[in-house]
Amino acid sequence: METLLVDLPTIRPHKLSMATMNGQTLMLVRVRCSDGTVGIGEGTTIGGLAYGAESPEGMKLAIDTYFVPQMLGANANRVPALMARLSQAIRDNRFAKCAVETALFDALGQRTGLPVSELLGGRLRDRLPVAWTLASGDTGRDIEEAQRMLEMRRHQIFKLKIGRKAVRDDVAHVAAIKKALGDLASVRVDVNMAWSELEAHHGLAGLVDAGCELAEQPVASADVLARLKGRYAIAIMADESLTGPASALALARVAGADVFAIKTEQSGGLQAAQQVAAIADAAGIELYGGTMLEGGVGTIASAHAFSTFRELQWGTELFGSLLLTEEILATPLEYKDFHLTVPTAPGLGITLDEDRVRHFRRDRSCVSVPVAA
Ligand SMILES: [Mg+2]
Repeated sequence: METLLVDLPTIRPHKLSMATMNGQTLMLVRVRCSDGTVGIGEGTTIGGLAYGAESPEGMKLAIDTYFVPQMLGANANRVPALMARLSQAIRDNRFAKCAVETALFDALGQRTGLPVSELLGGRLRDRLPVAWTLASGDTGRDIEEAQRMLEMRRHQIFKLKIGRKAVRDDVAHVAAIKKALGDLASVRVDVNMAWSELEAHHGLAGLVDAGCELAEQPVASADVLARLKGRYAIAIMADESLTGPASALALARVAGADVFAIKTEQSGGLQAAQQVAAIADAAGIELYGGTMLEGGVGTIASAHAFSTFRELQWGTELFGSLLLTEEILATPLEYKDFHLTVPTAPGLGITLDEDRVRHFRRDRSCVSVPVAA
């Protein structure tokens, strides 16, 4: 097994309520199996430690120190059994587990000739709708960006990052963008937990008037989410409140959301994300495929998992690799006609451009690249 950190710049500053990102760090993990297959997985976070307890650097350390001894010599065909062993030995570390599970499924797919989506039970769709996030911090710039995306036929769903400014200013920002785009686009917001309950009442009422369809995690508390849900003609989506199947069940119990934003890393892996989806289905909660702003590897791993969801009413936001200025895949992911194509080749169906990975890896100045047969 090998882990490495890759630092890539973003096309513009990405402003969220908890952090401004000027670049993204990918933690890549490679699992080499005894039959020669090599699987890759990826872990990312949003703004280092600004979003949660794991960082790319921490994931690398956790895998190198604690995951590898559990995995050496194990049967790589039995991914669920291996993940159960890891879960018993290692608490939490959901993002790192997701990266490792992805690499194992990628290798298994190459071994069996099947795409990861088929290993996960089978896909229901070959293309996923992809939203774009407008987060430049400037209304005029966001409108231009959205209009460009519509012209390119790349995105027609826009998520606006708000919560940094006063509620009234944020609502005015959303209203101006919705007015400029009209019925050509769906406009949604992500508050990233920034509002108090009272602010949320003001904000949601204003957002309904602005023509906004959905508010993602307006407040931090799941109880408050549940109190807000159904009060306004706008869908309430849980994101940060979802940290895997147990939290999904707790939220479903209190009817805390209309929609779940499922993220593979937040869920603790591809199979865990499917479990979250099953809980949502059973509770009548609609689904949206979220992103931890993964690069190409993590994005396509999520795409394989989301393609197996029975319902995906709100599409996805799997645009992470488009936020990066540098491509590390041999063939870029296919975004066209407002959708991302889920590859059909074995495993994840992608290949790293090894020269570019070498160029952007953090330790490139002192690296010797180990290559095993
Ligand atoms: Mg969010």
